[in-house]
Amino acid sequence: MRIDIVSLFPEFVAACAGFGVVGRAQERGLLSLHGWNPRDYAEGNYRRVDDRPFGGGPGMVMLIDPLRAAIAAARAADPAPARVVYLSPQGRRLNQARVRELAGRERMLLLCGRYEGVDERLVRAEVDEELSIGDYVLSGGELAAAVVVDAVARLQAGALNDAESAAQDSFEDDGLLDCPHYTRPVSHPLGDVPEVLLSGNHAEISRWRRQQALGRTWERRPDLLDEQNLSPADRALLAD
Ligand code: SAM
Repeated sequence: MRIDIVSLFPEFVAACAGFGVVGRAQERGLLSLHGWNPRDYAEGNYRRVDDRPFGGGPGMVMLIDPLRAAIAAARAADPAPARVVYLSPQGRRLNQARVRELAGRERMLLLCGRYEGVDERLVRAEVDEELSIGDYVLSGGELAAAVVVDAVARLQAGALNDAESAAQDSFEDDGLLDCPHYTRPVSHPLGDVPEVLLSGNHAEISRWRRQQALGRTWERRPDLLDEQNLSPADRALLAD
């Protein structure tokens, strides 16, 4: 997958993506990141990329032309079509289903705003979708872009080692939260590992994990539990 990042600080996103699973995905050729700085396409001695908002008020607004030129340069760098995704608190909120959908694309272009955001005419002309990473306001789109890059990188086939498989993570296929996990030592001043996990009985272990996942989801995120879709076995586990 190819991801182009249009940002005043593209190195910031690249730095966030240099470690662990995401770094490895790049090393394995599963993901390539390309930064495009609108300042490189700005004109004049000061290479201006922002200006005051019409109508007055605080803050600055990102200029159309440097952004447009950076987007055009990114598009021209590769023949694969790229949808432009503007990271914005006003966009559709990101969730794992959306991450899956984005991860399946061959290419996308992430547009990061700064200041009060970008000129609305640029959004209308160039942006295919707006994406928010939550109901709060960041000072720039770079952290949001790094979140998207991380979440989609780990879903590229071959990015995760077996032991890190995404299949049982929270929000995956069954939409539940993940069960709790334990490792050595078996006994610790902070508590013991639940006995069932030491039993070697795979059916019992699966049952316990499912029950924990259901219980946690019910306690912490009841909005994720679509009771209509719970199987009779799940209902029995929840009631247990
Ligand atoms: N004035 C804008 C508003 O209230 O909708 C906020 C602008 S914010 C200070 C600057 C930039 O940060 C935005 O253009 C966007 O790219 C990014 N940003 C801020 N919060 C975000 C969020 N929750 N999700 C994605 N991007 C965000």
